[in-house]
Amino acid sequence: MATLVMKFGGTSVGNADALGKAANIVLEQAHAWDRLAVVVSAMSGVTDALIQGARTAASGDGQTYQAIFSELQARHQHAVNELFSSEGDRSDLLVTVDQILGEFATLCHSVYVLGEVTPRAMDAITSIGERIIARILASLLHQSGKGCRAVDATELIVTDAKFQNAAPRMDITRKRVPDRLLPMLNDGVIPVVTGFIGVTEEGVTTTLGRGGSDYTAAILSDCLDADEVWIWTDVDGVMTADPNLVPDARVIPVLSYSEVSEMAYFGAKVLHPKTIRPIIERGTPLWVKNTFHPASPGTRIVLDPQPVDGKIKAVTAIRGLSMVTVEGRGMLGVPGIAARTFSAVASQGVSVLMISQASSEQSICFVIPSSTVASIIQAIEEEMALELTRMDIDRVWSLDDVVIVTAVGAGLRSTPGIDALIFGALGHANINVIAIAQGSSECSLSLVLSAEDAAQAIKEIHQEVILSG
Ligand code: ADP
Ligand code: ASP
Ligand code: MG
Repeated sequence: MATLVMKFGGTSVGNADALGKAANIVLEQAHAWDRLAVVVSAMSGVTDALIQGARTAASGDGQTYQAIFSELQARHQHAVNELFSSEGDRSDLLVTVDQILGEFATLCHSVYVLGEVTPRAMDAITSIGERIIARILASLLHQSGKGCRAVDATELIVTDAKFQNAAPRMDITRKRVPDRLLPMLNDGVIPVVTGFIGVTEEGVTTTLGRGGSDYTAAILSDCLDADEVWIWTDVDGVMTADPNLVPDARVIPVLSYSEVSEMAYFGAKVLHPKTIRPIIERGTPLWVKNTFHPASPGTRIVLDPQPVDGKIKAVTAIRGLSMVTVEGRGMLGVPGIAARTFSAVASQGVSVLMISQASSEQSICFVIPSSTVASIIQAIEEEMALELTRMDIDRVWSLDDVVIVTAVGAGLRSTPGIDALIFGALGHANINVIAIAQGSSECSLSLVLSAEDAAQAIKEIHQEVILSG
């Protein structure tokens, strides 16, 4: 039984025209596969709007969320009116849209009255966009004569209670997904599942983190033992650089799981960083394809692309970062400084993006989101209070407005001298490198640069190392 899981992103369901294209793709693949499960995101921009509604309500603004309610209602109503010819389907869906968006308005009203929005309330609010679209796409497929059902992932994906960034409990989820979906799939019914959403064991809605519907598709693929996962988005595949920054970025035909994981982790928005984790064990092939050019081949992502070519394939960037340095001559050879530094960081619930240590052991540097820097420095200073008074540690300080620019490609492991090309490209442009780290998978090299150099660094690496490499 050949099983395919497909996910459609925000632009791919962003209006009536896109929804029509997505539906055609589903109908076409329904003929080619024994079993087909579909995952959907909210319409592009809807999750941002829901968050804005919740935040403004929490800050005492009782107007904005109501305006957002009206905008979202109009946008979804417009799509429904364009897509459905039968009066019955149309009016049923319009009632559904009003009902679900009504929950948004009610929740925001409570947030407004309370004057705060908890992560739990935020998840209830941000799940709304996906819930609406799953119903619209399912009805659209139904209208085309295909057996189809909208399924809320709250029936399928059980997570921990870390709201806004919940982790799936695969032990339970691996049982629930086939229990719920296999009867449908075996009857030729296509489930249209809400991406991004999960549920605690107690039944409270959670979300998997921004961009998390890619991850939903990968989780379902694991639980259904799917043969392939296709991610439908608004670009022709995973590209050599962010096409918004580098207009001549090209589609990469084949990538390994490690390469695409590094790209996603270090800022390529096209795939959620956790997507690879559930599929790597089974070696399920993953494709990234364009809803608006379904005929173009897209990017194929597999365990071990053959042959391994010795190139840098992509360059990515993450912005909004600070580099924290713990330094002091008295640190030399003192055991445990690094461990205590990072446990102080962990105590703040912050994960470190990159670490580099000077070989003399007189300093440790690491990179974190700038929004967390004040609490991190305070936590380290408290942890190292004694060392600071003894002046074993001289200071804990941050360099703000930095970016991590990462070059990705298995060639870093296999081709001597490739690092030199990267540094050469930056040297020609007079760009100063603040710190360096090589990824543990050996297929990425990350550089900390000043934020003002980021755009040029990406262009230079793309031009000199990727296009001419
Ligand atoms: P979706 O809603 O389909 O999940 P996203 O906006 O999350 O779409 O991701 C797709 C977008 O990622 C593209 O439109 C592009 O602007 C951006 N992007 C950033 N880096 C890359 C890259 N290296 N390759 C492809 N797209 C990228
Ligand atoms: N709609 C969610 C978001 O905007 C999930 C996703 O797009 O994958 O983050
Ligand atoms: Mg996305």
